[in-house]
Amino acid sequence: MLTLENVSLKYGSFQALDGVSLNAKEGELVVLLGANGAGKSSIFLTTSGIHRAAGGSIRFHNQELVGMRAAQIVEAGVVQCPEGRKLFPQMSVLKNLMLGAYVHRRDTAGNKKRLDEVLALFPILEQKKDDPAGSLSGGQQQMVAIGRAMMSRPKALLLDEPSLGLAPLVVKQVFEVIQQINRAGTTVLLAEQNAFAALKIAHRAYVIEGGHIVMEGDRDSLLNNEAVRRAYIGA
Ligand code: ATP
Repeated sequence: MLTLENVSLKYGSFQALDGVSLNAKEGELVVLLGANGAGKSSIFLTTSGIHRAAGGSIRFHNQELVGMRAAQIVEAGVVQCPEGRKLFPQMSVLKNLMLGAYVHRRDTAGNKKRLDEVLALFPILEQKKDDPAGSLSGGQQQMVAIGRAMMSRPKALLLDEPSLGLAPLVVKQVFEVIQQINRAGTTVLLAEQNAFAALKIAHRAYVIEGGHIVMEGDRDSLLNNEAVRRAYIGA
């Protein structure tokens, strides 16, 4: 469904991605594991058209995404929830959520239905919908960021480090919601340093080091892999 083939990316003369090939099939939850600076965000930013690949191909269904504008990629159904949430802190929770609906702005009825679904997924946001997003806790802000991405009606959702900076109990809640979104039919690519929690909900995962894929496998093979456990799980 979403396929990267031999994708490369340069920041000036720095080669951030070098021949990255990976895929996510319809309905899968695929995790990208890697330390700080491995290239996880670069993969997402290239897929969502923020950066342009220097080489290779990114296909979603049969559409080539390389060369498309970021807004067109969202319209095609590939939506990124960025690292660090990137909310507008002074704006209300509701307004932040509705920014995600911009690509469907003519479909008022559809957006209302979708908003109801997003608020059902995150009941706490219903209570806080008129509060400034910046007044919410870290976990609640992460929920707004995911909710905003869901308002774009993704077929494939790219989640970049959603657990960053959150307390363990909140991480658990965020991962439960991600699993729920996936089970309801959205394909998910999840970039995480929190390897154990991410692998537990994954179907498959890729390990990225220095802009390369160094390992690929299903959840159990990676959870049981000695090198992965040592490097990313600390066991
Ligand atoms: P993190 O979790 O820290 O975001 P990551 O795996 O997502 O890590 P990337 O953000 O993709 O890694 O970064 C990959 C490499 O590219 C790193 O060495 C990083 O310093 C470098 N890099 C990222 N963005 C830029 C940029 N705009 N200009 C130059 N180098 C960059």
